Amino acid sequence: MSFDEHSKSNSEPLLKTIYLDCNATTLTHPLALQSAREAMELCYGNPSSTHITGLHAKSFLEGAREAAALAVGASRSEEIIFNSGATEGIQSTVFSVLVHLLDKFRETGRLKRWRVLYGSTEHKAVPSALQHWAEVLRIPVTLEAIPVDPNGLFDFDFVESRLPETALLCTMAVNNETGVIQPLEKIAALLNSTAGHDCLWFVDGVQALGKIPLKLSTLGAHYACFSGHKLNAPKGIGFLWVRQDAPYTPMIVGGGQERGKRSGTENLPGAAAFGRILKALIDGEREVFLNHEQLDQCRDKLIQTLSQCFPTLVWNVDLKHCVPTTLNFSVEGISGRELMNAFDAVGIRVSGGSACSSGKTSESHVLAAMKLPKWRAQNAIRMSFGPANSIKEIDIACAAIRQAGEALRAHCMIPHLPAQATELTPTTQRGICELRASDGTRAWLVSNSAHESYLVADCEQALSELRSKLACRGLQRTQVLRLDPPAGLDQSRDGWQQLKTRSGTALLYFPWQSREGHPLSTTTALLFVTCRECLEEVLSSSQAKQFTQLNLLACIACEPTALSAYEFFPAVVSSLTTKIECTKEELAERLKHQAITVLDVREAFESATSHLDDILGSLFELPKHDRDTTTSSDVDFKIVPLSRLPQFIIERLNEPRQERILCVCRSGQRSLQAAELLRRLSGCEALSLKGGLADLLAPHLSLLSRPPSPVNHGR
Ligand code: PLP
Repeated sequence: MSFDEHSKSNSEPLLKTIYLDCNATTLTHPLALQSAREAMELCYGNPSSTHITGLHAKSFLEGAREAAALAVGASRSEEIIFNSGATEGIQSTVFSVLVHLLDKFRETGRLKRWRVLYGSTEHKAVPSALQHWAEVLRIPVTLEAIPVDPNGLFDFDFVESRLPETALLCTMAVNNETGVIQPLEKIAALLNSTAGHDCLWFVDGVQALGKIPLKLSTLGAHYACFSGHKLNAPKGIGFLWVRQDAPYTPMIVGGGQERGKRSGTENLPGAAAFGRILKALIDGEREVFLNHEQLDQCRDKLIQTLSQCFPTLVWNVDLKHCVPTTLNFSVEGISGRELMNAFDAVGIRVSGGSACSSGKTSESHVLAAMKLPKWRAQNAIRMSFGPANSIKEIDIACAAIRQAGEALRAHCMIPHLPAQATELTPTTQRGICELRASDGTRAWLVSNSAHESYLVADCEQALSELRSKLACRGLQRTQVLRLDPPAGLDQSRDGWQQLKTRSGTALLYFPWQSREGHPLSTTTALLFVTCRECLEEVLSSSQAKQFTQLNLLACIACEPTALSAYEFFPAVVSSLTTKIECTKEELAERLKHQAITVLDVREAFESATSHLDDILGSLFELPKHDRDTTTSSDVDFKIVPLSRLPQFIIERLNEPRQERILCVCRSGQRSLQAAELLRRLSGCEALSLKGGLADLLAPHLSLLSRPPSPVNHGR
């Protein structure tokens, strides 16, 4: 089976997956799988056993060790210590060096403060290990981060000036977020020219393996770490190269495996798999790995496609400093979150910043160290492929990127590009809709039946971007209403009312009362406030009397977290103690037994490229749904982006509330917000699909399959 076929058979059943997040981890190559399987089925002995089965296992392990030594340019295979991966290799190195420094204290009796230098763009495991072990071992060390230039390259003058006093230098060969290749020969030259130094040198080679040639022994480094899963071997296997003469103290002791340097029965299947991959690398097996020209060719295709689709794209480092497999970019006017959502909808998996730190979306320390402008650091996307990809896969990726670009463009999400905004007619835009700028600033677009539009915005800095989005929607004549400082309103003409409070300004509006006197809804009004205190003040003021007959929808401008709050007054109270999330299994039951409305609450540029009705239809064998009539027998599908949910709620105010609604999004977060709002504001039985589309499309894994839990209908 080819790698292509393999990835196809493992991908989600309904949506293609184009995995471009190879710096986070990679798909295990079929050859690695085969080798691991052989180790488990045919070579299952314990390499420490002296009988023939054990000897077979031992020779398998030693074969992998030789491949590892050759792949990284180590002169002796005994210098390779198999372990669980790079993080462990980093700990072993730091621990060994610090213990060595402790020994030096004892020899000389002199308490000295040692300096340790590490790159400011290093993987977090390096500074964390340095700090942790220095504290645990109580060794006085001064940790200094090497500054980098805007391209992520070391300040070599800084390194040179500090080197004579440095006990340990930690540098990475290739950066995981940017792909920047650090010129290690320059470091080697500096170390060689520093007279009388005895600085130990650790190289993090994780992202370099398979992408640039490595010659560790001739380089003159002392330690280097590697992880199998970054190069198509499984997770949980890696190795540390320790130069023969470098100090080493085992962190794990016991049975004396790995020549006493890392005890514990070896992970033979992992080592066999990694060894097979490394052998393919050494032998230049073309059917496994692309060569350098082919990798460049793949990068060129991606660069060309991305640049065409996103004219405001900026590369976050000069690509001439990078391995061809990593592209780090930001697109002016589009937030990283929106880009990731658009890519995910067409099956492309990329990461924003570093995916290694367990799904947290904190600002990247790498891009911060490069002093990138805030908007670029906040919205950076890392697209990474690997040498085991094929050119065909990259072509498919380019087609999907174009599809995502077109969907974003059609929905006016790409600034400075005229829309092909077929779906954004004045009618579909009528009502209230949340508009967001790429820095996360929120604004509310209100269009009334007289085709007048207003933008309630509170933040100056995002206005030009929001104006460009309005122009793309054909709403150039939108009047911008500022809350702070308050808008200069012609209240009598426009129907807006300005309400003053101590904590800010509020705007009240009846958008559904048409100018011609045809009331669409005279009982619903919008209230925009700057903050919660302001809302409370308005509601407790004497002016509040006018609200008692109203459905009042309050929008808090610029609410910094999550979705802005919408509140009706008088509030429709629903019990939030009832179950609000439903699982995939419960959904299947509900679809069999109940009439239900499924709301796709993803933004329109996402639902345009992956149709929820098709996905649910084929998963649960629903009768074919005709998108034009919008209903099937018992399941009604509606696309209601979270940004237009208030409008949806307003339109349903006078409808019966027995309807059962199931909100669905990509991961279950937005749908949970939507379901909560629907319950709170319109009192219907709204549920959120737990885990969203991601759970729905998860491959069937026997380990994780559970017996269906009893269905709770949420009442
Ligand atoms: N070093 C670099 C450059 C990395 O990219 C990573 C993982 O992303 C690590 C170290 C840690 O590797 P692992 O999580 O496999 O231990």
